[in-house]
Amino acid sequence: MKKYAEIIINSDALDIDKPFTYEIPEELKHEIKIGQWVKVPFGVKNSLVDGFILSIKEEEIKGIRIKKIKSIGAIESLLSENDLKLIYFIRESYLCKYIDAIKLLIPQGILKGTKNKYKMVVAIGDNSLDSNTLNKYKDIISFIKDNNGKFNKSELVNLYKFSLYKINKLVSDGYLKIEEEIVYRYNNKKYIEYSERKLTEDQIKVLNQIKDSNKKIFLLKGVTGSGKTEIYMKLVSEAISKEKSAIILVPEISLTPQMIERFKGRFGREVAVFHSKLSDGERYDEWYRVKECKAKVIIGARSALFLPVSNLGVIIIDEEHENTYKSEQNPRYVTREIAEFLSEVKDCKVILGSATPSIETYYRAITGEIELLELNNRVDNKPMPIMDIVDMREELNSGNISMFSRKLFTEIKEALYRKEQIILFLNRRGFSTFVSCRSCGYVFKCHKCDISMTYHKNGYLICHYCGYTERQQKICPKCKSKYVKHFGAGTERVEEEVKKYFKDARVLRMDVDTTRSKNAHEDIYNLFKNRKGDILIGTQMISKGLDFENVTLVGILAADMSINIPDYRSAERTFQIVTQVAGRAGRGAKEGKVIVQTYNPDHYSLNYAKSYNYEGFYNEEFTARGLMYYPPFGKILLINASSKNEKILMDFMALLKDNFEKIKDEYNNVEMLGPVSCIISKIKDNYRWQILFKGELSLDFCKKIKDKLYQLNKNVYNEVKATIDINPNNLT
Ligand code: ADP
Ligand code: ZN
Ligand code: ZN
Repeated sequence: MKKYAEIIINSDALDIDKPFTYEIPEELKHEIKIGQWVKVPFGVKNSLVDGFILSIKEEEIKGIRIKKIKSIGAIESLLSENDLKLIYFIRESYLCKYIDAIKLLIPQGILKGTKNKYKMVVAIGDNSLDSNTLNKYKDIISFIKDNNGKFNKSELVNLYKFSLYKINKLVSDGYLKIEEEIVYRYNNKKYIEYSERKLTEDQIKVLNQIKDSNKKIFLLKGVTGSGKTEIYMKLVSEAISKEKSAIILVPEISLTPQMIERFKGRFGREVAVFHSKLSDGERYDEWYRVKECKAKVIIGARSALFLPVSNLGVIIIDEEHENTYKSEQNPRYVTREIAEFLSEVKDCKVILGSATPSIETYYRAITGEIELLELNNRVDNKPMPIMDIVDMREELNSGNISMFSRKLFTEIKEALYRKEQIILFLNRRGFSTFVSCRSCGYVFKCHKCDISMTYHKNGYLICHYCGYTERQQKICPKCKSKYVKHFGAGTERVEEEVKKYFKDARVLRMDVDTTRSKNAHEDIYNLFKNRKGDILIGTQMISKGLDFENVTLVGILAADMSINIPDYRSAERTFQIVTQVAGRAGRGAKEGKVIVQTYNPDHYSLNYAKSYNYEGFYNEEFTARGLMYYPPFGKILLINASSKNEKILMDFMALLKDNFEKIKDEYNNVEMLGPVSCIISKIKDNYRWQILFKGELSLDFCKKIKDKLYQLNKNVYNEVKATIDINPNNLT
């Protein structure tokens, strides 16, 4: 009987997102296994393409001509059976294609031929040394013994000035030998030992709770500086002592050299580091070290979760609330969900850590689905910094139109005088196009969606959830003032203003623009740490991880920027970011102070943040979410389409609408909003439109929408690009 393989082809085309049957030729019968990477002829031209084997079957297939597998890919056993399970899970859960899921699990570049890099090195040979030879060649032999396998011949000769003649002689006599050695393109930096701490009682209590629980998923909710990282490290050492591996995920921007050093300092060189900025070669090397079990501790951004770890002991997700844990490209996966899937498949525990857990996770913790662990005090019992909320409307009333409230101005002056450092934070990632009254703080919102309306250049305000549009009024509907303004200012402007008002201060700025080059982030960090700067201005990038003991003042310049992002999570984000940024103050011996500037001083997110009252905030937020069917009580499904041809795009959206409506009618509690043009209505000449579903969206419903979308998209595939996303990070 013949053997056949079901194979996924490496192609982006929508209509080949299914397994194709290939015959396994006689000569490959013994080598082919599930998960293997193969080369197969494909299409009318039978060009050779990469494929991946999902399953193998033995049967007679008659009547149709079946193509044969041509050869095996460069790496044997690329995907394991567990990997295949994960691939099915990802495709189902995130409405993506097989190949999208497969590509998550193999290092970029591998299909293009990235391989190990080798070098020929000089090592101690197999012939045992008699004392005579040993004496004669003493320095060279002992040097090689100390550095066995580190240097090649030319380095020994040119750099360390050993005689080439002697080396060659020793090699030909078998006292030395030339070996092939893998060169790792990463991970060769030095590190300083970071010794274990004696844990506090609170930390021990948490660890015991993890040990004693029969649950697999934990939320570690601990205020900033409460010693969470130390707990992670303890869990990692416990895993290692049982010969198991550990994965620690941190948001990409927290994966600073300091963070990596701390882990390497504790666990040695064999820590793999994995993130999106690695080159193909570096990525391959880290992947390979993990696959070969050379690295048991993995620290990285979300993609590190897909490394081929065997014998996994624990997964830790630090700052679990961060939105970078949701992928913005296909597959649009949720890191936490993947970790939990792996914890079932690989039987390990998952620790989600945060000072400000996401609403979804906290909800699961208080309903008992996952176990809640708490650290309510900082390690040294230092008090949390005192937070002041400054009403910017009053500043305006008193004639202050600068970026700084009088209070913040005075505090900066005083801190500078005391030679203490200051952090000024501006959330520039938000949209600067919401409209509000500077006199009373009124924000123009959509009555149907409770979401800030977005200003468009033509003078209209649009709700980007439902499309409701109105002409912008010049007068505030609440207080009748004429100070209705669009909001917008970036960190660069802040820098300008700071330099204007505080002429002698040394100013540093950390944002996307100033950290483009490879070491820029580290350089700015070090300058500030070594007190070569008085004021550090920055975006999200400075909101976490930074531990500077001389910082006593943190200013949040415009909390409204995140409060008014047109997104149902804007209050949550504001609460989180204010709490995180505040956590940068008062980490040393001196007390810290935080000043929050806002036109919405009564906003619940700010008031709960001020009193560090998580529970209060969550309770209020749960109620708001529940009323509107927003997550965790419902889901959002976003269909986004873009095209250079607006007419074709609008026709496509209209067609989607008709078809989706029919599907929607079969389900209860599903609301369809749109079509409406996206917040960013055009990118690079591509018009962008969206349709949004909200409510009790079952996976079954989402799949039907996806199938319909792909089916209709096929007809205009060259003109319209469409994406589908469950609970998207943003609706831009
Ligand atoms: P978190 O991750 O919760 O913000 P960290 O683990 O970074 O907190 O700890 C905050 C600070 O306290 C760090 O400087 C850390 O080295 C220190 N620390 C943590 N645990 C201990 C301990 N058991 N004993 C002494 N210092 C500790
Ligand atoms: Zn007003
Ligand atoms: Zn609306």
